[in-house]
Amino acid sequence: MDLKKLASALIPDNDLIDPDKYEEIYPERDLQKGAEVTRLAPSPTGFIHLGNLFSALADERTAHTTGGIFYLRIEDTDDKRKVEGAVESVIRSLNYFGIKFDEGAEIQSKLNNYGPYYQRQRAKIYRAFVKRLIEQGYAYPCFCTAEELDKVREEQNAEKLVTGYYGKYAKCRNLSEEEIYKNLQAGKPFVIRLKSQGDVSNKITFRDAIKGDITVTENDQDVVILKSDGIPTYHFAHAIDDHFMRTTLVIRGEEWLSSLPIHLELFKVLGFKTPRYAHTSSLMKIDGETKRKLSKRKDPELSLDYYRSAGYYPEAVVRYLMTILNSNFEEWELKNPQADWHDFKFRIDKMSRSGTLFDLDKLSDISRTEISKLSAEDCYAFLKGWVDEFGSQTDKLHFEDAAYIIKVLNLIMGTGGKKRRKDIERAEQGVRLMDYFFDDTFNPQYAFRFDDKTVNTVLTQFAAVYDPADDNSAWFAKVKAIAPQVGFAAEMSEYKQNPEAYKGSVSDVAEILRIAVTGSANSPDLCTIMGILGKERSLKRLNAALR
Ligand code: GLU
Repeated sequence: MDLKKLASALIPDNDLIDPDKYEEIYPERDLQKGAEVTRLAPSPTGFIHLGNLFSALADERTAHTTGGIFYLRIEDTDDKRKVEGAVESVIRSLNYFGIKFDEGAEIQSKLNNYGPYYQRQRAKIYRAFVKRLIEQGYAYPCFCTAEELDKVREEQNAEKLVTGYYGKYAKCRNLSEEEIYKNLQAGKPFVIRLKSQGDVSNKITFRDAIKGDITVTENDQDVVILKSDGIPTYHFAHAIDDHFMRTTLVIRGEEWLSSLPIHLELFKVLGFKTPRYAHTSSLMKIDGETKRKLSKRKDPELSLDYYRSAGYYPEAVVRYLMTILNSNFEEWELKNPQADWHDFKFRIDKMSRSGTLFDLDKLSDISRTEISKLSAEDCYAFLKGWVDEFGSQTDKLHFEDAAYIIKVLNLIMGTGGKKRRKDIERAEQGVRLMDYFFDDTFNPQYAFRFDDKTVNTVLTQFAAVYDPADDNSAWFAKVKAIAPQVGFAAEMSEYKQNPEAYKGSVSDVAEILRIAVTGSANSPDLCTIMGILGKERSLKRLNAALR
C-alpha cells in the first residue's frame, strides 16, 4: 500500500510543516538541574473542584520548590462540554487560593513560548504527527459506525472478553487499499486509529512518582487518535502536548492509570521520551460506616466555589490540603509556627498511595485557627472580599467604613489581647457577628430575666450617668452603684455568700445593659462596645429597651 498517498488522502491539509521542525520550535527548556515542569490541564467545563486544587497544589509546589515552571493548558478537544468563561474561572478560583501559573492560557507572561495553550488551536501540530504515523504504518483510518462498534462491544461482553478495538475485532485494520479509497469516495466519515504494536502478554514495569513501581500489560488496543472532526483524543493530545510543552512530571488523577499503557505506546511510536508520571489518589470521605470518593452529585464541598461562597479562609483550605498532600506537613508547621508555609519542602513521593481522606471538620478547624490569627486589618480585608462578592447590599455599605469595622474587629476578635476568638470558621459568621454594631442590622430580642420596673430603673439610672470618657473601671463603678437601687448585690462575693438576700447581683445589672445595647446576653466587653457605638447611639438603645 502506498502509505504516503494514503496519508495525504486522509490528512489533505497543505499547510502542515515537517513534524521534526516542532523540536526546534519548542526546544528543551533552559532550566536549572532538577527543575520540574508541571501543568494543570483542565477541560473548560466550568466545574472546578477540590481535586483540581489538590492536584494544582501538588503541581505548583513541585514546580516552584525546584525552580521549575507551572503552566495552564486547556483541554478543549470536547467542544460540547465547553462553558463560556470557564478558563477565567479556573484562573480566578486558583488565584483565590494563592495558586498562580507561570505561563499558559490567558496568563500574561513572557514565558509563553510553548503555546498555543488551547488544544483546539493546536490542530495543525496533531495533524502533522498523525499524518506521519499513517505514513509509517502506525495509524490507519477506521470507518466503523457507532452501531457497529456497539455490536462488537455486546459480543465481547457476552463472551466476557476485554472490550475494545483490538485483534480480530479491529476490522478496519486490515482494509485493502481499494476498500479504503472506496469508503473515502463514498464520503464515509472516519477516525484515525493507532495501529497498536503491543501484546498483552508482555508486561511493563514502570515507576510512578507517587505509587512506586507499577506493572502494567502492554497496550494492544487500536485506540482512536484523531476523531472524525479532525480533533485528537485526550490520549494523543496528551502525548504531543506534554512532549512539546516539555512537561517533566505529569501529575494527574489515578483514574488515568488504566490508560497508561496506551500513553506509553504513543510516546514510543512518536519517538518521544516518556515524561515521568505521578498519579494522585482520589479524595475520599467518610460517609456513615463507609469510605467513598467525593462525589459531584452528593457532596457540595467538592466544588471549589463552595469554599469561596461559604467564606472559608482560603489559606486554611490550602494549608489543610497541604496536610493531606504530605503527612509530615503538620509536624513541620508545629515546629515552625512562624515560618511561611511555602518554605516547607514538598515531596511528591511522600504523597499517599491510596485513597486520601478529606475531612471537612479538620478543614473548618484550621480555618478557625487561621482566622483567629489575623490582625484586624487582615481580617477586614478577608471579610470584605467575601462581602464584595456574596454579602448583601447592607453588608457592602457597612464595609465601606473600614476604620469602624477595624475597631469592631479589634474588639470581637480579641486581636489586642491574648485571648483570641476562635469560633469563626467562615466569613459570613464573622460578618453576622458585627450586625449589632449597625442600626439597620441591630435586631434585639430583649430577653430580660427581670421585671419591667427593675429593667427600667437600671436603664434610666445608667443612661443618666453614662459618660463615654469613663475608662473601664469608672464605667464599672457606675454599674455597681446601680445594684443596691434595684435590690441587687453590688459585690459578687456578697451575693455568693447570701444569694437569698438579693434579687440579683452586679453582673445581672450588666446583663440588663448588655441586652439593651447589643440585643444579647453574651457579648465582648460592653464598655468598649458602647465606646465604639458612641454616646448618642448607646443612649438611644438604652432608651429603646424601656418596657
Ligand atoms: N483534561 C484531563 C482532565 O481534566 C487532564 C488529565 C491530565 O492531567 O492529563 O481530566
